Amino acid sequence: MADADFDLAIVGAGPAGHVAAERAGRLGKRVLVVERSHLGGVCLNQGCIPTKTLLASAKLFAHAQHGQFFGVTVEGARYDLAKAMAWKTRTVETLRKGIAFQFRKAAVELVQGTARLAGPHTVEVDGRVYGAERILLATGSSAAVLPVPGADAPNVMGSTEALEITSLPKSIAIVGGGYIGMEFATYFARLGVKVAVIEMLPEIVPLLDADVAVLLRRSLPDAEFHLGSRVLAYGADGVRFTKDGKEQVAPAERVLVAVGRRPIVEGLGLEAAGVAFDRKGVKVDDRMRTNVPGIWAAGDITGRSMLAHAASRMGEGAVADMFPSAVGEGAAPGAAAPTARMRWHAIPWVVYTDPEVAGVGLSEAQAKEQGRAVKVARLDLRANGRFIAENDGVRGMCKVVVDAASDLLLGVQMIGPYASEIVPGAAAMIEAELRARDVREIVFPHPTVSEIVRDALWELA
Ligand code: FAD
Repeated sequence: MADADFDLAIVGAGPAGHVAAERAGRLGKRVLVVERSHLGGVCLNQGCIPTKTLLASAKLFAHAQHGQFFGVTVEGARYDLAKAMAWKTRTVETLRKGIAFQFRKAAVELVQGTARLAGPHTVEVDGRVYGAERILLATGSSAAVLPVPGADAPNVMGSTEALEITSLPKSIAIVGGGYIGMEFATYFARLGVKVAVIEMLPEIVPLLDADVAVLLRRSLPDAEFHLGSRVLAYGADGVRFTKDGKEQVAPAERVLVAVGRRPIVEGLGLEAAGVAFDRKGVKVDDRMRTNVPGIWAAGDITGRSMLAHAASRMGEGAVADMFPSAVGEGAAPGAAAPTARMRWHAIPWVVYTDPEVAGVGLSEAQAKEQGRAVKVARLDLRANGRFIAENDGVRGMCKVVVDAASDLLLGVQMIGPYASEIVPGAAAMIEAELRARDVREIVFPHPTVSEIVRDALWELA
């Protein structure tokens, strides 16, 4: 094929790649997507979506067992793993079809295969070369591994394998107390599996302020947490680790390793093309440009904010930067569109535990590390009407961080029901650079759990 058969060639059809393809295709650009596996990437096939379908089933099971406080008694509630897995598979397949439909609608050309850069304007797919004026690298990430003995043992699995189990273990040791580890801990604990979490850091989920993390751990009262613990080996009997210089064992039938993700940069021809990268990912600026003109990167491959919605926004940002006049933005040809720039500080995150945890902006600890003078308010969810009406024995909290001098809202962290649905509102407030006094003037519907954000800001008035 001759050069420039495509305006844009994208490697990878995860949230970064497929959203970028849809946006560019809808602008009338000739777009090629190369994907070696299923449409939707890790998020749809081994990440966000399958975990959330399984978590929904476990939460429903737990609610069926504990509905008495509402006056609802369900006798004989039983969890059918095979049916939950079948529902997960159907959900994933439906969403894959949705992406294929969007590709057809946007006239995106899909090639199945493994791509590598053959030059700044060419990608090679299993021996065939395609020319493109621009290239977007969106190959995502893979699970990190701990080089400890026993990693190949049959009872040891990663998150991908955990989504395919055919029977529930009686006990599980989860290595890694990040968001993936905590979501699986919630899933198994709500189904009555004995859970132990082994985390090297002094606290779970590093994004969280310590007071929120403590509440999250308390939401799993039957789970054991071994914090500040270094794993030595996995074995048929569980996980061996050291804590405070003492060797211990977390006995478990199965071991789930969730110790982070590594950008996929190998085998892509980055060195030959001169694209700068290291083990943390491909280096990009705030418009997702690499150091090589004509090549952009988006999503987990950049090692920045390794979340699906961040990946999609990076893909969109890259497309806005590539085609500024077509997007209707940017004053002069080649000028960067205003919306091409990533605003990293306003990307929300969610941990889909039970209750959920979500946040956006600076935590109290981060704000203090930056040397900012801040005002902080914490409000217990027991101050919230809807929360009280719908919950028994659940704790929740909203915490707001405000710049002491300017009154600017810097961050929100929340643990409680619907936190995932409330946090986009907080993100919009931070994006719009609202001050605490601005938010206090916004009317929130009553009764909603979301009112807690406004009420927490009133604590600072
Ligand atoms: P990916 O989704 O990894 O997609 C990259 C694609 O590129 C893949 O399909 C891959 O097959 C393809 N590819 C790679 N190399 C090549 C090549 N050489 N040629 C052709 N194709 C190639 N994020 C959230 O925001 N919310 C969540 O709830 C959430 N839950 C998660 C749960 C788990 C268990 C895991 C593992 C992750 C979760 N994530 C979640 C993270 C989320 O999945 C990733 O941030 C997101 O998928 C990154 O998108 P991406 O497009 O950068 O890469």
